[in-house]
Amino acid sequence: MVALVAIAGFLTPLEASEHKFAIAIHGGAGAIAKSKMTPEKETKYKAKLTEATNAGYEILAAGGSSLDAINRAVNILENSPLFNAGKGAVYTYDGAHELDASIMDGRNKQAGAVSGVKHIKNPINLARLVMTESVHVMLSGQGAEEFALEQGVQLINNSHFDTDNRYKSLLRAKKKLKQLKDKSDSNKDYQANYRQLDSQYKMGTVGAVAVDKHGNVAAATSTGGMTAKRYGRIGDSPVIGAGTWADNNSCAVSATGHGEYFIRYSVASDICARVQYQGKSVEEASKEVIFGPMFKAGGTGGVIVIDPKGNIALTFNTKGMYRGSRVEGETAKVAIFK
Ligand code: ASP
Repeated sequence: MVALVAIAGFLTPLEASEHKFAIAIHGGAGAIAKSKMTPEKETKYKAKLTEATNAGYEILAAGGSSLDAINRAVNILENSPLFNAGKGAVYTYDGAHELDASIMDGRNKQAGAVSGVKHIKNPINLARLVMTESVHVMLSGQGAEEFALEQGVQLINNSHFDTDNRYKSLLRAKKKLKQLKDKSDSNKDYQANYRQLDSQYKMGTVGAVAVDKHGNVAAATSTGGMTAKRYGRIGDSPVIGAGTWADNNSCAVSATGHGEYFIRYSVASDICARVQYQGKSVEEASKEVIFGPMFKAGGTGGVIVIDPKGNIALTFNTKGMYRGSRVEGETAKVAIFK
């Protein structure tokens, strides 16, 4: 008995105070055409996904917080032109870039978000400052940038986000919108036609979720939104409960997809509510939501989900989702297609 207690006592510090840590990231979901994915392109994407996954993992392995881990992973993706966030942000209809981001802390449900910012290199960092240094949850546009200045964040020129590829996408989207307009017999305008744009114009967001050694979960999402968006359109990414959610009582979620649907179906919080109140696994809950009524209504996209035990679900109803994950003691896994 004494021996057993001694053994139990010997094991206790590890088991009682440390949780299995893990991280998952995404770089957008959508109609990723396999035919257009050259081996070189695929290698580039996978290398960046691996880099971001491992960078977050290293922070967790060193005992760092889930917030620091997701922040770091998202920064790496924001600084890459490959993804529709930060440097690689898509163009608005008027040829500029407007960025959205949000972050949530599962310990206390503190959250911060920014929307429609034009001069912030890493919007996720500003969202985090909104969470920790302001009394608000979401700041938008010019006001968010005034707050950034007060916090010592340097504003940059909007042209920092210019890239050839995204510009070509804008031109293609506008051409398509014009064709749709010309084809329609009535006064169908941008509103109706935008709905018909292919999902390739509506994807690319980045995000991360993690659980640290203390069992705390966190989630972050950052995006340039949708190509040719107009009128100050804001998607789900900065909306807490839609694009981002984290609660130690259930799970953490970062979403990507057609934002209007994700807002209307409160995707991120709905998944965690199923985990919390119905005892579902993150896998079951995310499948129910991603393939449920939202999908039937036309909502496409995906989510990455993690719970305090380190269980991960990477669920999407599209052809692919850029994704990566790494659980304590394992190597990083990255994938693009199903
Ligand atoms: N959800 C983002 C938005 O609607 C886009 C995306 O995830 O690709 O703004």
